[in-house]
Amino acid sequence: MDDTPDNHPETARPAPRDHAVVLGAGIAGLLAARVLAERFARVTVVERDELPEDGPRFRPGVPQSRHVHILWSRGIEALERLLPGITAELTAGGSALLESPRDFLWLSPADWFGSVPGARVLVGARETVDWTVRRAVLRDPRIRILGGTLATGLLPGPDGNRSVAGVTLREGDPITAALVVDATGRGSKTPAWLAALGHPVPETTRYDSHLAYSSRTYAVPADADRRWHGVYVQGRPDSPRGGVLVPLDGDRWLVTLIGNGEHAPPTKDPAFLEFARGLRSPALHDALRGAEPLSDPVGFRGTANEWHHYERMDRRPDGLLVLGDAACRFNPVYGHGMTVAALGAEALGEALAGLDAERIPAAARRVQRRTAEAASVAWQIATSEDLRYPGTEGPPPDRATRFLQGYMSRVMVGANTDPEICARFFGVLSLSAPPNTLLTPWTVLRVLSKWRLPTAPTTEDYPPHHAAPPRVSP
Ligand SMILES: Cc1cc2nc3c(=O)[nH]c(=O)nc-3n(C[C@H](O)[C@H](O)[C@H](O)COP(=O)(O)OP(=O)(O)OC[C@H]3O[C@@H](n4cnc5c(N)ncnc54)[C@H](O)[C@@H]3O)c2cc1C
Repeated sequence: MDDTPDNHPETARPAPRDHAVVLGAGIAGLLAARVLAERFARVTVVERDELPEDGPRFRPGVPQSRHVHILWSRGIEALERLLPGITAELTAGGSALLESPRDFLWLSPADWFGSVPGARVLVGARETVDWTVRRAVLRDPRIRILGGTLATGLLPGPDGNRSVAGVTLREGDPITAALVVDATGRGSKTPAWLAALGHPVPETTRYDSHLAYSSRTYAVPADADRRWHGVYVQGRPDSPRGGVLVPLDGDRWLVTLIGNGEHAPPTKDPAFLEFARGLRSPALHDALRGAEPLSDPVGFRGTANEWHHYERMDRRPDGLLVLGDAACRFNPVYGHGMTVAALGAEALGEALAGLDAERIPAAARRVQRRTAEAASVAWQIATSEDLRYPGTEGPPPDRATRFLQGYMSRVMVGANTDPEICARFFGVLSLSAPPNTLLTPWTVLRVLSKWRLPTAPTTEDYPPHHAAPPRVSP
């Protein structure tokens, strides 16, 4: 280890000014390292998992990788700006660049989307995304990753607890650094680590709709319908079960079933397929007819929206930032976490522009506020949609949220029938356009002209532009 060894954290020495340390080699940590390498001579990424060197692999630190992961257009753009050429590398590695809703059979809470453009979306195995991003980030010689290394706490600076001077590890000497970035994801220990240094913990806002996932892979059958690339049957409060099917490399499908509370999807056969059969449309179940499962279903719970408000803390040490899921995570069903991680890294780069490394630790609070802004639209979308579900725990919706929910129900009806409204809706959902593009006079008039009560479903088995496949007897 080439960092200053220090076996006595309580008497830490001044941190090397040219060194930043990032905890966690997930997408937020890797992209933060990429940005910090522009400001610091050395960036060390501390990762608890041993990282595979020979290609994408599942690893326990990112258990959500077994479930459908999409990257919305705004995330693709941000990733490409941070790592030019990455989209081509991802598609060469088997990820698919699709257009939604055009390339999907997609049943919204109101009705089917048409076969029209809306927003680009990258679909692929999460392990491949992480592997490809990691390989690209490590081309920068200023960045190194210490795999198999668990961070266990924050090292106080020589001024007591007013600054952070590095991290302690489960094994080996602490690592000193001028800036510590926690990107350890949903299980972040920073609140406890701050408390151990005598700091207050951040306030937390939490909304939990108790959504559960169950996912497995299939071999694409030889006679599969090739007119679409994916299927998405969304649930809604009066029928809170849904399912999504996306393509994976190697001619595979990844199927994720979702449900709230007592509607949690099963993780056993044959209940998995039965659940798919009971969705609002049989399209996903029909697609799986004759498809050979390649894995057992795996479940995932713990999908609450949770925002630790580090950006609001008055008393916090210099030299510490918290990014990605460690700061703010979302109900994954809206597909925003990775995009927000990329936006957070972009915001980090903008906030650090013009600052030399020496001034960065003291600017951490301001930088934290900038990176927090990157989460606000995704947070608004996820929490206001989750609050439609009666079992959602969290602060009740205010009048503005209730008004927006009502209006968005009408937008959804419009988006199902009008390509212009559809494009605007997907612009916002993909985080590529600000939410107020749905509130311009033009859009409001157009939405209201399509007025129809969204609670009166017109759902058919299949969308009008897409006939059902011939039915065979079971
Ligand atoms: C079921 C599910 C489905 C999802 N689907 C989507 C989707 O479709 N689209 C989307 O954009 N997002 C999706 N997300 C969200 C997305 O997975 C996260 O937002 C994203 O992974 C956050 O990245 P991160 O780097 O902050 O955290 P993570 O990816 O969780 O990475 C954290 C890293 O920190 C490491 N670590 C943890 N503790 C320590 C420690 N003490 N010391 C050292 N290392 C440590 C871990 O091993 C891991 O490598 C989904 C999430 C879930 C749960």
